[in-house]
Amino acid sequence: CGIVGYIGDKPAQSILVSGLEKLEYRGYDSAGVATVVEGNLDCIRAKGKLHNLREKIEVASNRAPIGIGHTRWATHGKPEEYNAHPHTDTKRRLAVVQNGIIENYRELREELKQQGHEFRSETDTEVIPHLICQCFEDGAENLMSAVQQAVHKLSGAFAIAVISADYPDEMVIARQQAPLIIGIGEGEYFCASDTPAIVQYTRTILPLENGEMARLTRDGAEVYTFDGAKVRRTPHSITWNP
Ligand code: GLU
Repeated sequence: CGIVGYIGDKPAQSILVSGLEKLEYRGYDSAGVATVVEGNLDCIRAKGKLHNLREKIEVASNRAPIGIGHTRWATHGKPEEYNAHPHTDTKRRLAVVQNGIIENYRELREELKQQGHEFRSETDTEVIPHLICQCFEDGAENLMSAVQQAVHKLSGAFAIAVISADYPDEMVIARQQAPLIIGIGEGEYFCASDTPAIVQYTRTILPLENGEMARLTRDGAEVYTFDGAKVRRTPHSITWNP
């Protein structure tokens, strides 16, 4: 029910967990974070309170400067660790967090299973990493275009954040009928479901509109429509205390 993402030069895990704490008011039953460490994904998830996730991270923390985090309010699949986000593709190269509901996940799941993708959860969300992986297999040339092709196949109201072990210097996010904002810092970028998650780090905000996606790197935030048209929008400053 809450998303936080970070790319910059600081260790991401603690920024992600403190951001998720600020989104606790949205309600959740489990939580998780994924980072990219030396060419691999490190995905840590826990059922229950954020405290449980924090304890797990403490014994296995890393200093990776890119990651995504999620608090889950289960809609499809029990509130168990194996259903907690982030979800990954079969080879664990892509990690995805999602808020919302993928309405056509059953059809996609059957199709993806037939194409050889192995599912590990009961969620609607897990179709997304497998779908992005399939887009790469079908010839997508980079993470942005793979995610773009994947979101065209999704129906429902959703906000997603995606990282890949093969693209350790970028994050791709997308929004359709569920909130998602970009936070702009100096050489660091954030995404979140709501401003309280990131306001302690930056007050410069660029909200995504429905049907928009963005590629975040340490050098900037590029916003596009789902159809690939570049969007130019000026960020605004938050002067109030959320
Ligand atoms: N529908 C997704 C799930 O059940 C996401 C729920 C949420 O927004 O937290 O995993």
